[in-house]
Amino acid sequence: MSIFNDNLQRLKDVQVLENISEEDMQSLLTPVKTNYAELEVNGRKYPSWRILFNEAIGPGKGGIRFHPDVNEDEVKSLAFWMALKNSLADIPYGGAKGGVKFDPKAVDKKELEEVSRQYIRKFHEYLGQDKDIPAPDVYTNGQIMSWMLDEFEKINGRHEPGMITGKPVEIGGIAMRGDATAQGGYLVTKEVVEKFLAGRKDVKIVIQGFGNAGLFMTEKLYDDGYKIVAVSDSRGGIYNEDGLNIKELIVLKNSGKSVNEYPGGKAISNAELLELKTDILVLAALENQITEENASRVKADYLIELANGPINYSADKILAEAKKMIIPDILANSGGVIVSYFEWAQNRNGQILDEDYLKNLLVKKMKDGWRRVYEKYEERNGEITLRQAAYIIAIKRILAAEKWRGRI
Ligand code: NAD
Repeated sequence: MSIFNDNLQRLKDVQVLENISEEDMQSLLTPVKTNYAELEVNGRKYPSWRILFNEAIGPGKGGIRFHPDVNEDEVKSLAFWMALKNSLADIPYGGAKGGVKFDPKAVDKKELEEVSRQYIRKFHEYLGQDKDIPAPDVYTNGQIMSWMLDEFEKINGRHEPGMITGKPVEIGGIAMRGDATAQGGYLVTKEVVEKFLAGRKDVKIVIQGFGNAGLFMTEKLYDDGYKIVAVSDSRGGIYNEDGLNIKELIVLKNSGKSVNEYPGGKAISNAELLELKTDILVLAALENQITEENASRVKADYLIELANGPINYSADKILAEAKKMIIPDILANSGGVIVSYFEWAQNRNGQILDEDYLKNLLVKKMKDGWRRVYEKYEERNGEITLRQAAYIIAIKRILAAEKWRGRI
């Protein structure tokens, strides 16, 4: 099933819960603009998209993904989730997302640069600090953002660092963006441990995905004394019920190996990792990892969605029945876009913002987001899920913005 249609079912549930009119729903569900282009590099063709989903609150904001499975339905869903995430985080953005269908690991650096620059040549007229602001996502990084910024500024004949975030510090980025998503996820996980697990450090944690989001979050939890019993990457997982040495695993991963080659644990498959007995399962890889097929075998009590859309609608239902709690993506992984907002604001006003102030602001915004979602959940006596609580808050703000603009 399409990811977008799957998510639509969640929205229909919220529509009923909140008594939202059909007209309001339509305004919420219709993308502002879907841009498609075919890139051509060295005779190879790469389908690519930039979708601006909603701009009632502010300019579009959302990353660009390079992955062989990228397709329009996925980009559209990610763009919609960005609209909800930005609204929930109370930052002045709409939602957007981009993607190129190709495998960046299979090409050399020159081709990667050409794909990045061509992407901007195709879509530059839709981008800009007041229109739509990209950032890194799966398999894109600061280098790719730099090439994209450079191409954009060449076309427009002027500097505009606020047109893209996640840049290296030397060209207008801010140092804390690198691990901001992980930092946000870590803060939310701590809130969960405090609230439901008596603040215990010996809770068992399993993490799927060992990239930008997953690796840094694993490291933060480990440094704080938590026990990580299993982690995985695209090639497989590693398990040790006494806890893994994460520092050693990071060295191994940085040497180009897979975590499942680590000698200090038992190699397991990704499917097995998702079904391990654990208190907390952090999902930090890709969409649709927990579905109706495996949800009933999930043993974790708390699932933290650091990735976007790792649990589908049917699995939501099965997990809720089993009294499992899901900390939804639009809350759990919002640290990245919150810090992107700091970067954008700094680029725009030309002032240097104090890093300690920004670090505290990130903590405040994450805790605030968690508190508002939890309060909404309690207001409904726990009869809705945390995801539904988060969706209600996010949707209401977007619809309020649409109403003030006189569109609905
Ligand atoms: P990344 O490319 O840095 O890392 C992805 C990781 O997932 C890699 O370790 C890869 O090996 C692993 N992986 C891929 N397929 C897997 C599978 N089937 N099973 C287990 N592991 C698998 O990407 P990222 O930036 O860490 O993004 C991960 C998720 O977090 C995505 O859903 C992304 O949209 C989301 N996210 C990222 C950010 C950010 O700032 N990086 C912000 C918000 C959300």
